[in-house]
Amino acid sequence: MVLAWLALPALVYYVWICQTYHHGQLVLPSPGMLHQLPRPTLKSMVVIIGWVGYQAILQVLLPGRRALGLPLPDGGRLEYRLNGLLSLLVTIVLLTVLLIGTNTPAWVVGNLGPLLSTTNIVALGVTVFLLLRGRHEPGDSPGPIRRFWYGSELNPRIGRFDLKLFFEARPGLVGWVAIDVCLAARQQQEHVLSASMILVCAFQLAYVLDYFVHEEAVLSTYDIRHEKFGWMLCWGDLVWVPFLYTVQARYLADHDPGLGASALTAITVLNAAGYVVFRRSNLQKHTFRNNPQTPVWGEAPHFITTANGSLLLVSGWWRLARHINYLGDIAMSAAWCLLCGFDSPLPYLYIAYFVVLLVHRERRDNRICQAKYGADWTEYRARVPYRIIPGVY
Ligand code: NDP
Repeated sequence: MVLAWLALPALVYYVWICQTYHHGQLVLPSPGMLHQLPRPTLKSMVVIIGWVGYQAILQVLLPGRRALGLPLPDGGRLEYRLNGLLSLLVTIVLLTVLLIGTNTPAWVVGNLGPLLSTTNIVALGVTVFLLLRGRHEPGDSPGPIRRFWYGSELNPRIGRFDLKLFFEARPGLVGWVAIDVCLAARQQQEHVLSASMILVCAFQLAYVLDYFVHEEAVLSTYDIRHEKFGWMLCWGDLVWVPFLYTVQARYLADHDPGLGASALTAITVLNAAGYVVFRRSNLQKHTFRNNPQTPVWGEAPHFITTANGSLLLVSGWWRLARHINYLGDIAMSAAWCLLCGFDSPLPYLYIAYFVVLLVHRERRDNRICQAKYGADWTEYRARVPYRIIPGVY
């Protein structure tokens, strides 16, 4: 755990150093890199705190649909205000104004280092705040390190403001789009906007847009239902997503791999296929959980009724593999990396990380479900033997 605490932030800084000082090539890590670590500046502090505050204001003030989360262990259901799509669209309008009227893209791209360091500090501040609040779930481990890392509250709220839903989506996910847009604008200012850059920005914008179009489905994901809100989630949402997920756009800002029409078409097809698997499977499970009578692929769904009352779908996508939704995500991440060509392995760190994350996540989910559902889960595993890739894994 402590190793991961040090390794993941170090990896983000390492990628930033490779991109800033080594033309986007992987180099051997060396002690000299410590001198290259970027420091926060007053301006980067103002920008990041302003960005998080701006996203929070949008969440509070913009109109939004009310939705209930799935039942909690005590049987209660939390109410959420869902206005992420509107927030994203309002932010895109703001970004467009900044792009046309100011030199924001050049400033953002030139200051990604200080912005990264500042965001780390903000993530630390939020986690320490949660720790100091001193609230925790019944039966939680009292150890402060575990509570710092994994969090102690499942749904920390200030009044009706849900901190986990906010940080899960708003500053980081929208920040990812904002950094992509700035990188594309900078490329256009200094070189020529490449086809790879247009596609990577379009694919990733579509991914984020899709997240907000289906915002309600987020309420049934693992993070919202089971993960407490601590450093791991907070840092992942605030730092990892916007600063690592932009690795392709950052690389492409200075390198055009010059891919031909057939390569670009094949990559677009891969991204679209991944999207279909990812979206349709997640939606199918979400719809089933909310209304188990809904037909699946035109037929009445097959499912297992577990001893604790939950239903496990064994039809449609969920007949093919127990986490077929992860396969779609992996295919999309492959498409984004392939847009960078093969001159540097750096953009491929993203898919390497993503595969490790999802394989680990699947195993963890499997352990948790086995403990929760016992013999019902064993039956489910017998009926759906593959974990992620049908017929292979
Ligand atoms: P899932 O949405 O697949 O949630 C897993 C939970 O769903 C299980 O714990 C179980 O919870 C329930 N479940 C499992 N199987 C069934 C079934 N057959 N029928 C009904 N319910 C079932 O996992 P994640 O939250 O990890 O992923 C959601 C999406 O987010 C995925 O597409 C993933 O790829 C993506 N993702 C993207 C990330 C990124 O950085 N881009 C990071 C992580 C995830 P219970 O029974 O308790 O309800």
